[in-house]
Amino acid sequence: MTSADGIVRKPMDLDRAGVPEGEVHIITERCKECGYCIEYCPEKVLVYSKEINSRGYHFPMIAEDKATSCVLCKFCDLICPELAIYTTDASDDETQS
Ligand code: SF4
Ligand code: SF4
Repeated sequence: MTSADGIVRKPMDLDRAGVPEGEVHIITERCKECGYCIEYCPEKVLVYSKEINSRGYHFPMIAEDKATSCVLCKFCDLICPELAIYTTDASDDETQS
């Protein structure tokens, strides 16, 4: 951000800030193929699977080239009407193992 006197202001901890990485979990049997998570993911992480669940719905899966693209915004968690998808912090998984 640039102030009126032309000074560029940056957060003091900018060098320590990073983009969070999320791990996506999909409970395939709950999915009803509404597509909200796929359509509204800001990083286009999800696509429809070719497979179907036992109720005949195509559930989401991670797109081939998007394995590390989730930014943990949790929008898919919030928007899914079936509670069929959620995300966790991938860095937590690394510290637990
Ligand atoms: S948390 Fe955000 S970026 Fe990650 S899959 Fe869900 S909507 Fe996409
Ligand atoms: S928002 Fe939920 S029900 Fe809809 S496609 Fe995604 S996982 Fe399936």
